[in-house]
Amino acid sequence: MRVVVDTDRCVGHGLCEAAAPEVFEVGDGGFVTVDDAAAATAAETALRTAVNGCPSAALRFAD
Ligand code: SF4
Repeated sequence: MRVVVDTDRCVGHGLCEAAAPEVFEVGDGGFVTVDDAAAATAAETALRTAVNGCPSAALRFAD
């Protein structure tokens, strides 16, 4: 699965990183980056927890 981040919404809570640390990483700038290769093989449950749990609604699944 592929996940994209809206950097205008992301405020660096890090909840996504906690849910799937192999996929999401909050950088020094306070924005999250997504490892596309890791997302492709990550457990769907962890990805859904991250996407649905983002308080800023900054994550969404992409085709
Ligand atoms: S949980 Fe949402 S706002 Fe927080 S770092 Fe992740 S994408 Fe950004």
